[in-house]
This record gives sequence, structure tokens and C-alpha cells, in this order.
Amino acid sequence: ATAVAASIEEPITPPVKVKYTQLLIDGRFVDSASGKKFKTYDPRTGDVITEVAEGDAEDINRAVSAARKAFDEGPWPRMTAYERSKILLRFADLLEQHTEELAALESWDNGKPYEQAAKIELGFSTRLARYYAGWADKIHGLTVPADGAHHVQTLHEPIGVAGQIIPWNCPILMFVWKVGPALACGNTIVVKTAEQTPLTAFSVAKLLHEAGLPDGVVNVVSGYGPTAGAALASHMNVDKLAFTGSTGTGKLILEMAAKSNLKPVTLELGGKSPFIVCKDADIDDAVEQAHFALFYNQSSSSNPCDLMMVDAIRCYETSTSLSQGQACCAGSRTYVHESVYDEFVEKAKARAIKRVVGDPFRKDVEQGPQVDSEQFEKVMRYIRSGVESGARLETGGERLGSKGYYIRPTVFSDVKEDMLIAQDEIFGPVQTIFKFKDLEEVARKANASKYGLAAAVFTKDIDTANTLSRALRVGTVWVNCYHIVDAAIPFGGYKMSGHGREKGIYSLNNYLQVKAVVTPLKNPAW
Ligand code: NAD
Repeated sequence: ATAVAASIEEPITPPVKVKYTQLLIDGRFVDSASGKKFKTYDPRTGDVITEVAEGDAEDINRAVSAARKAFDEGPWPRMTAYERSKILLRFADLLEQHTEELAALESWDNGKPYEQAAKIELGFSTRLARYYAGWADKIHGLTVPADGAHHVQTLHEPIGVAGQIIPWNCPILMFVWKVGPALACGNTIVVKTAEQTPLTAFSVAKLLHEAGLPDGVVNVVSGYGPTAGAALASHMNVDKLAFTGSTGTGKLILEMAAKSNLKPVTLELGGKSPFIVCKDADIDDAVEQAHFALFYNQSSSSNPCDLMMVDAIRCYETSTSLSQGQACCAGSRTYVHESVYDEFVEKAKARAIKRVVGDPFRKDVEQGPQVDSEQFEKVMRYIRSGVESGARLETGGERLGSKGYYIRPTVFSDVKEDMLIAQDEIFGPVQTIFKFKDLEEVARKANASKYGLAAAVFTKDIDTANTLSRALRVGTVWVNCYHIVDAAIPFGGYKMSGHGREKGIYSLNNYLQVKAVVTPLKNPAW
């Protein structure tokens, strides 16, 4: 424990060098048109890692032109689907081969434990790349039995140039998760990365080119939201926009899409997901999984399988920055039945105290620093607000060490629905525990949120599980588990957690146009 604590004061030298810091446009690394750069920081210390090209509206124009040309004239939408599939499979192999280097870069730029970046973020990204490679040659239309003497068919065509704006909490995973389905369908893309974590997308996009992706098909612009991001969302030549980030920005994106060319938008936004522990739940398992749901715990004793991929699938999000509670689907409202409440709170507190926080490059660390000073300050403000509003601070609530953005794992009990910490997405290592009396009450309270991303129900009673699963207005319900995600399982939100679904077969529709082709039949009787 002393060594882990010391690792915060004396950070480990990252085992990787930064290779790429320029925008990737039309297959080439280039400076921004303005020549401007911005700094990206090491969350372990607040020191500058390097400077990166700062793209703005003009660079977005260049990137969109390249993507447009690659779509209108290039080989990508015209090559056989099997060829596209093979390129995506080669990309997956390259991701696997570069796991160590990419995970180290991710850990450095974002603060997530290296082990988790390698196993979960890279493991799951590789799986996603293979999953979408598998779809490329299975996308096809239908023949339609319309009335009258006509042959009617539908063509499923790529939608065109896709703009994709991604957040900082899982930079590599979000990149592959977004480009995967768009590429499988034959689109071309401009990705705007998050200003907090610009580094890894350049390397990942470089691997796509090494795998055989033609120039201009995937372009990467680093830069700020209100400049580069807004230019992409309002661009007249972008045919579709996919966004993952905060609900506030999601609203702006939708407005920009409407005010420009009415491009269709998918939104993956914030959450405040309820984790419901019923009176008949296995309490020790529920404590561990509720901890995992909020903070993430890779070595969860309840994990039935040691296979890396299963682990990866299970915890892709939490593990990454989610190990710092920076997960959109974090189980951030823990509702516990009154009959087991005291026992649960005691055990949840003990588990949080045991949580290992330290330098993300140490193998034994469960939690690294928050991504930057802004997120750190935001989480600390919520902790102060929890204390001031009368919630009971069971443990944590303070900074850890003297440098970087480490926060001690924090647990609040006696949380009431009207408190700010019960309503807002904290996006940090802060567990809030509520008490409930009966199922009707907990369903009502769980749904009394502007968000609807995910939920969990812990019970041994199948009727309770089924009743609550149907009652909860959320995109995913996990029964006696949490963060089980898979390339094939759709993901997305109800209410202000977003529009549309990503992953699985559902994600393909976001990147396809359906064209009906109607031809008269000269000799219908034949
Ligand atoms: P954010 O909305 O501030 O930023 C996300 C991205 O949007 C960044 O690339 C940013 O530069 C860009 N952006 C910011 N302002 C913009 C503007 N005016 N126009 C265009 N683009 C703009 O969110 P964040 O704080 O970086 O990310 C954390 C949030 O993301 C959390 O709320 C979390 O719940 C959410 N999230 C959701 C999911 C999901 O799948 N639902 C996954 C991960 C994160």
C-alpha cells in the first residue's frame, strides 16, 4: 500500500513515445491551417505531454472535402464488400499487435490503468473491428411483394460522409466503435477527437491505413468543441453525425444539424443509472457488483470467467477511465432495500476503502487519476455539495496525494432524491446510496431522472426481475450483473441519454440509406 501511495508522488516513466501530433487528412499528417497547437496533459501530474495540431473550421473543411472526394470518386464505396471486410480484419490484427503501445499512450493521455486499457479497451476495440468486418459483406436489401405488376427491391446504400465527435473517457474504444459500422457500410468519415485525449486516434487511424484503407476515407481532426466540433456538426457537406458526450453538448449538436442541412444525428449522452438491490439479493455479490458498476473492479470475485475477452466485454467501459467512475453507464444511484440497507452500506464502504488507487502504470492499481483538472474540480464540487445537502459521507471525499488528479473512492449514504448528487451525472468515483421500501416506490424513483441509459436489478426472484426490467425506462437492464457489453448488444439511451442505438445490427441502420427501386414487369404471369 505504501508503494502504491508513493507512485502518486513519483510517477512511473511511460513506456512509450508520442509519434503523431498532426491532423490526419486525406491519408497524410498535416499541420492545422492556422498553424495553431494545443497542449495535452498527463493527468498523473498536470504536466504537458506534448502539443497537438489545433484544428478548426478550416481544417474541418479540408477533412470533409477529402472525405467527400473519397466517397464520390474513391474506391472505398465501390470496392467489393469482401475487400472492405478484409481491410477491417487486417486492422483488427494490427490493433492486437500494437496493444501495448496503444494502451500505454491511452493510459498516459487519459489516466486509466494500463492493464485495463490493454485488456479492456484494446481487447474490446479489436473485437468490434472483427465484428464489423463480419458485417461488411452481409448488408443487403430486400425484394418487396408490392401490389401490381412491378418488381420492387430495396438497395441499402452508404449514407455518405459521416461526422463523428467522440469524448475522452474511452478514446480508442469510442473511435473504433464509431468508425466500425460506418466503414462496414462503405461510408467515409471525419472524426473530431476530444481535446483532453487527442493522442491515440492518430495512431489507430494510421493502423487503418496500414491495413489498406484508401486515403481520405478516415480523417482525424483534433481540436476544441465550439470550433472544430461545431464546424463538423453544422457542415453542409456532412451527411450524418454521430456524437458521444454530454447531454448539454448533445442538444447543441442537434440544433446545429437542424440549422444546417438536417443531417440525421445519433446521440450517446450522459446517464445516472439506478442499481437496485432487492431484499432477496445475494448481498456480498451485490456489494461487489455495485462497486464495480460505479468504480469498476477488474478482479471481481463474482466474475464467472477468466477469459480476457469475456472480462473485456464485461467491463469495457468501467475499466478504462471508468475505473475512475468516468462511465456514461456507471451505476451511479445505488438503491438498497431497507431490510438489507445497513449491512450493504457497511460492506460498500469497506470495499471502497480497499480500492487501490495509484499510478496507472502499476499492475496492481484499480483506479488512476481523473482525466484533467476540470473534471477533478467538478467531482470535488459535487462531493462538497453532497456533504452540504446532508448526505452521510461514509468514506473518501478528498484528494489523494499532492499532485495530479487523484480522488479517494467516495461513498455517500442517506442520499435523498432532491439532492444535486442524486440528480446530476458526477462522472467520478462517488457512490451514492439510497434506501427504498417496495418495488413500486423504487421503480418510480429510478425513473424519476432525465436520463435513461442503463439500470441493474439484483434479485433471486424472476418475477421481480421481469417486472422491474419492464418498468425501467432505460436502454439496457442488467439483471444480477453490470457492464456486460458485447459487440452484438445494442447500446443507447432513453430520454436525455440520447437517440438511436450503437453496436450490434442496430448500428448499421445509422449509416445506411434505403432506396426503393421499382421496375414494371412486362410479363407478370411468367
Ligand atoms: P462533451 O460533450 O463536453 O465533449 C464531447 C465531445 O464533444 C468532445 O469531442 C468535445 O470537444 C465536443 N464538443 C464540445 N462542445 C462542442 C460543441 N459546442 N460543438 C461540437 N462539439 C463539441 O463531453 P465530455 O465532458 O468530454 O464527455 C463526458 C460525457 O460523455 C459524459 O456526460 C458521459 O456520460 C458522456 N458519455 C456518454 C457515452 C454514451 O455512450 N452514452 C459514452 C461515453 C461518455
